[in-house]
Amino acid sequence: MEEFDSGDYHDKFSSFYTYIRTIGKGSFGKVVKAIDKYTGITCAVKIIKKSSYSDEVLSALRFESEILSSLDHPNIVKFLHVRESDNRIFIGMEYIRGGNLSDLIQNKTISESKAAKIMTGIFRAVEYLHNRGIVHRDLKPANILISNPKDLTTVKVADFGLCTQLGIFSRTDEKCGTVIYMAPELAAGKNYNKEVDIWSCGIIMFKLLCKGKHPLYRQKDTKDSYFAKLQNPKWVFPKNFSPLAQNLFLKLMKIPPIERYTAGQVLAHPWILQKNIAIPLTYLEKMRQLDSDMKLRGFVYSLLFASLIYPSN
Ligand code: ATP
Repeated sequence: MEEFDSGDYHDKFSSFYTYIRTIGKGSFGKVVKAIDKYTGITCAVKIIKKSSYSDEVLSALRFESEILSSLDHPNIVKFLHVRESDNRIFIGMEYIRGGNLSDLIQNKTISESKAAKIMTGIFRAVEYLHNRGIVHRDLKPANILISNPKDLTTVKVADFGLCTQLGIFSRTDEKCGTVIYMAPELAAGKNYNKEVDIWSCGIIMFKLLCKGKHPLYRQKDTKDSYFAKLQNPKWVFPKNFSPLAQNLFLKLMKIPPIERYTAGQVLAHPWILQKNIAIPLTYLEKMRQLDSDMKLRGFVYSLLFASLIYPSN
């Protein structure tokens, strides 16, 4: 394909792949559907221009790719290979044919049970990544791919890791692109950890249940006005948002990251399992319960002690 070969003198796109079609364009370049000439496998290839990034970023990207290739989970898009031409890096991934969640939720009502299935798949992937010390940092509907529209628990998370190296924070996104999924600590430039992914999942869950409507962002918002709202968000739920779904949502959207659910806790929540079971406690709730249990025990012991020293008769 001419367009993808121009400017390369040694290895070219067409040395590695047979072009089929362009799937879409993200901030780092195009994603195309192609056949890998070495294996004959149909794959999705993300094409990154080397000139857009420093040597340091590119070597970190190559290193990160090695880690990503070792990941293997049914809810994570399989990373296949990294190849290079003079001017480009080609990242080969498993091709997912059902489109992405962004297209699925636009103005469409999705039942709570369907949404719970989708969120189950996403949280299974997040739990797997977090257990391996990997934070996605750019979870959003466009990065959730639909593998089998008939079984929505098979959704697959794409694009993890790459965003770390390619610097999502250097984007000057006046239209609030990816920033509308960012946790408050990330938006404020503070230290952050895996809890940022839990926040992004909360936004995705809300959008799934509200025909693509964001819980906070409004069209007139700028990046600054949106970040200001993040400091003290006011959540308003539509009528069809069930109390159990609200309970889970609020536990994903706690401002202090330590108060948010972990992915493992989410997967045990009655809304996710669509079962009538107890609501798991957050880490902090468990600590508080332990603390009040200890206080109660101390009180009982002191009463017991007093009754031994000063027996009533
Ligand atoms: P950004 O780069 O800003 O994060 P994005 O996620 O939309 O935005 P890309 O990740 O480059 O951009 O993806 C471009 C398009 O390609 C999206 O529609 C995405 O759903 C699709 N896509 C990405 N990976 C695959 C894949 N493995 N199989 C099928 N489609 C894919």
